[in-house]
Amino acid sequence: MSHSSHQIAKIIATPIAVPDPPLLNCAGIHAPYALRIILEVVTEGGILGVSEIPGNERSMEAIRSIQGLLVGKDVLQLSQILSIVRDEIEEPSDERGGAPHDARLAVHIFSAIEVACLDILGKMLEVGVVDLLGGRMRERVPFAAYLFYKRKGAGGTYGYETQPDISGWEYHRQAEGIETEDLVAQAISMVDTFGNKSIKLKGGPFVPEKEVADMHALYDHFGPDMPLRYDPNAAWSYDTGVQWGKKLEGVLQYLEDPVKGQENMANLRKEVNIPLATNMCTTSFSQIPNSVRVHSEDIILSDHHFWGGLRSSIELYRICKTFGRGFSMHSNSHLGISMAAMIHLGAALPEFDYDLDTHYPWQNEDVIVGGKIPIEDGCAEIPDGPGLGVEIDREQLKKLHQNYIDCGITERDDEFEMQKLDPSWRFVEERY
Ligand SMILES: [Mg+2]
Repeated sequence: MSHSSHQIAKIIATPIAVPDPPLLNCAGIHAPYALRIILEVVTEGGILGVSEIPGNERSMEAIRSIQGLLVGKDVLQLSQILSIVRDEIEEPSDERGGAPHDARLAVHIFSAIEVACLDILGKMLEVGVVDLLGGRMRERVPFAAYLFYKRKGAGGTYGYETQPDISGWEYHRQAEGIETEDLVAQAISMVDTFGNKSIKLKGGPFVPEKEVADMHALYDHFGPDMPLRYDPNAAWSYDTGVQWGKKLEGVLQYLEDPVKGQENMANLRKEVNIPLATNMCTTSFSQIPNSVRVHSEDIILSDHHFWGGLRSSIELYRICKTFGRGFSMHSNSHLGISMAAMIHLGAALPEFDYDLDTHYPWQNEDVIVGGKIPIEDGCAEIPDGPGLGVEIDREQLKKLHQNYIDCGITERDDEFEMQKLDPSWRFVEERY
């Protein structure tokens, strides 16, 4: 059954570049701009659905290859749309693999279309996307403070220069955050500003001696009532993982991807008495059977951009619960449309295990009307209004698209950015 007003009339993809501070990770350093793609799906009935995914030229090409094929398809027939995307966008594997960033195309593209279609369906029914995912289990969704080692600067047109007359979180968003005291100050500022009830550090740029000592410094400052997570992005060898993991027992709520691969994670779990989380070793449904067989992690961090949308994230949640795993969400640099999607998903989870990750406070710009979605008391509220409850700010979209044209960056390459600071620097998968 199809109804003409449900049919897709047009898909518009706009690449944008968002100022992004020089945040460090094991793959290098963030470029002055993070790339996103804003997707708009318009139905024959004139209803507009929006979504947002990580951007690069490959993703734009993949969207162009399916744009025409989806015209005339019914936004309710998401499985049909998924099979078109799968048939058209060939990938060597559905696993994430050892790349520094998740570069899978089909899951990204389908998630972009699925979220926009859910936005449309919500608008048609005059309900929130959360109501299409099982309904409202909570009105406010908790997010963790997400700390980074960072160089001085705010990204984008500010370059790496810090503005002189700023204070509070804006100061720490721009200031250097590399030494232990800088990192603790960054944490205090973030928690003071956004009221987060848990804290994550993106690790990997420095030796375990320093990063583990910094986690202890955070623990010493905030005490045992502030859950701490630490993510070296599998930059550690197995032996390093055992040695330094043990030194974090009693300090962490969970340890995220200390080592690479399900077998290494499973073995480490037996040696180190801390729950392990992943967004690297179990990254697709095809990896679930072995995850269950070897018990590679305690918590799976979904990301609707990487798992193929919001409904498949709910399916993943159900699998996690079936096999006794915790569930939470991973994040990349993103704007308010993805933030809204994450809030709707978080609000629909029957049980809420761990505060979700978000990079959102690191971005100063947004693409939605009314500016950034507030995080208060550590939580973000479900946006008002049908669908995702957010609307594109056309002036901002134009400005951020112009950034994309002007900045010349066409794909994320943190190694290349790091080599601007240190020409001898190389990304290696198992650094320590
Ligand atoms: Mg991670």
